[in-house]
Amino acid sequence: MNRQPLAIVPARKAEPAPGLVVDRPFPGREVDFVDPWLMLDHFGPDRIEPGDKGGLNPHPHRGFETVTLIFDGAMEHHDSSGGHGFIRPGGVQWMTAGSGIVHAEYREKAFVERGGDLHGVQLWLNLPRANKRAKPGYQDLPAEIIPVVEGDRSRVRVVAGSHGGASGPAKAFTPVTLLHVSLEAGGSARIELPDGHNALAYVVSGEVAVGDTSVRARHMALLPRDGGPLGLRSSQGAELLVLAGVPIGEPVFAWGPFVMNTREEIMEAQRDYALGRMGTLPEPV
Ligand code: MN
Repeated sequence: MNRQPLAIVPARKAEPAPGLVVDRPFPGREVDFVDPWLMLDHFGPDRIEPGDKGGLNPHPHRGFETVTLIFDGAMEHHDSSGGHGFIRPGGVQWMTAGSGIVHAEYREKAFVERGGDLHGVQLWLNLPRANKRAKPGYQDLPAEIIPVVEGDRSRVRVVAGSHGGASGPAKAFTPVTLLHVSLEAGGSARIELPDGHNALAYVVSGEVAVGDTSVRARHMALLPRDGGPLGLRSSQGAELLVLAGVPIGEPVFAWGPFVMNTREEIMEAQRDYALGRMGTLPEPV
């Protein structure tokens, strides 16, 4: 018995910052969020010409975590906790905004000099009320430390949670699963997901049968909380992300870069940022 999608949801175009166009399956008109996952932004692949700088100037976050996966190209970041790092192909940055952080996200300088394709995904992961004021920081998860489980013409990279006896290096505040699945033509994989977790599969490229339903690139299959393992199969080859997590089940008040439980907490976050209480970062970096 295989888990079957509840719904297939297309990504819609969104522009989280001027000139930054992404494909976003949620939040959107069909699905607000998939508790605890708040957002999925798929950017690129975009051809970056040599010298074409780009990125997001310093901006704040509070109350959740950002998880950035780079498939091609390279990103660099600075944050007000003193963090500075790079996200290179196959790498993941897991940032805890917690009580408040100011960060800048931009194309790595050496990558900008040579140019090339930039392709990745940024996820927003909610924090429960008890952890919304956690100490800010980030986990740098380069490709070398992310375990790979080989299967039937398939590779599953385990970023968080577990699969096939491997556990992902990411430390999250609540139990979550984040898998990057690559299927060659004719490949398949079988994913055990914990019962009771919300779950989804997002197809980055190619086309994949999720259970018995064919799902095209830039579409999300929303999955039920139980129903057995997830069967994935692709005739032409595909890349996808599989996300799951224990639903937090608390009220979500989101405004721009802040995600809290109440309207008052959003106003407090705006005030704290304006007063410099989330730290500061020089501009431009
Ligand atoms: Mn950001």
